[in-house]
Amino acid sequence: MFDAPRCPYPTCRFHLRPQPGFCVRIGHYRPLCRPHPVPRFRCRACRRTFSRQTFRADYRQKKPHLNARFLDLMIRCVGQRPAAQSLGVARRTVERRFLWLARHAAWFHQNRLRPGSLAGPFQLDELETFEANRYQPVTVPVLIDRRTFFIVDTAVAPLRRKGRMTPLQRRRRAEHETLHGRRPSHSRNAVRRVLASLHRLAPARAPVTLETDQKPLYGRLGRALFGDRLDWRAFPATARRDHRNPLFPINHTNARLRHFLSRLKRRTWCVSRTRHHLQAHLSIAALWVNYCRGITGRTRTTPAQALRLCPAAYRLEEALSWREDWGPRSPALAPQFCQASCTRSSGIF
Ligand SMILES: [Zn+2]
Repeated sequence: MFDAPRCPYPTCRFHLRPQPGFCVRIGHYRPLCRPHPVPRFRCRACRRTFSRQTFRADYRQKKPHLNARFLDLMIRCVGQRPAAQSLGVARRTVERRFLWLARHAAWFHQNRLRPGSLAGPFQLDELETFEANRYQPVTVPVLIDRRTFFIVDTAVAPLRRKGRMTPLQRRRRAEHETLHGRRPSHSRNAVRRVLASLHRLAPARAPVTLETDQKPLYGRLGRALFGDRLDWRAFPATARRDHRNPLFPINHTNARLRHFLSRLKRRTWCVSRTRHHLQAHLSIAALWVNYCRGITGRTRTTPAQALRLCPAAYRLEEALSWREDWGPRSPALAPQFCQASCTRSSGIF
């Protein structure tokens, strides 16, 4: 039996402070995309009506049954075009669903993190890829909790192509830059963004351990944000990247991201058209890695469970079930709408 957790209209007083019996049931309707009837309600304060569907993440979608399958394809190294073919829908549908999924994943992650909820130690590293062509590289700082492999935050920023190049490649870069202008390097901004997230989430006044390679930028930005609280541990990036390497957790996370996301694979036809799409795909990957997948292939405990951010692993359908976009002033949903174990027992899928 579904009970509305609050009035869904942010201007209503029962949106922020719902009281028992704040709404009455007024029958149901039968949507085309679901076999069972959906109950409708009227709020006693604002007199407006809503239904159970108003609280679902997939409300207003015509094909909600695609969501979990699509998420599954997006973290199995399948590009958007083959995903559309596999699901039997238009490419445009998949493109729109991709952006919806990314927005939902970002809200989901944000709603489960509170200031002080992550104590570390943390590891940070940048992986490099490109948008559209190899003359437009981007950097992707990835910040994780070292013990649980929980992805705390990622960012994406442009880089200028550097490193070893053949004379032909140098000429092409010059041609590219005459056409589009010199490409800026914004690694600093991107790293600062992920460290700023850490600053919001780490306990205030407690020491913060950050492990990285020896790029001086990490220490500088970390000290600017955390001051004396920062315990920066830098390890040589040239050491063999096996499980004895102190940076194994972050190296492994980045290798897994390349394995899961088609656009991060090396030597592939599948590339990011824009870095914003790459950021969207990283949000989707973080939802799956943190809340649905076990820390290793053998354990069922997810990184978020290990950090006590949620009580159980989410099935894909569960992670995509309830709306998360309620806005910063809205209260969190009642536990039965946020916790995997409860949604499972209510049997509404
Ligand atoms: Zn109301």
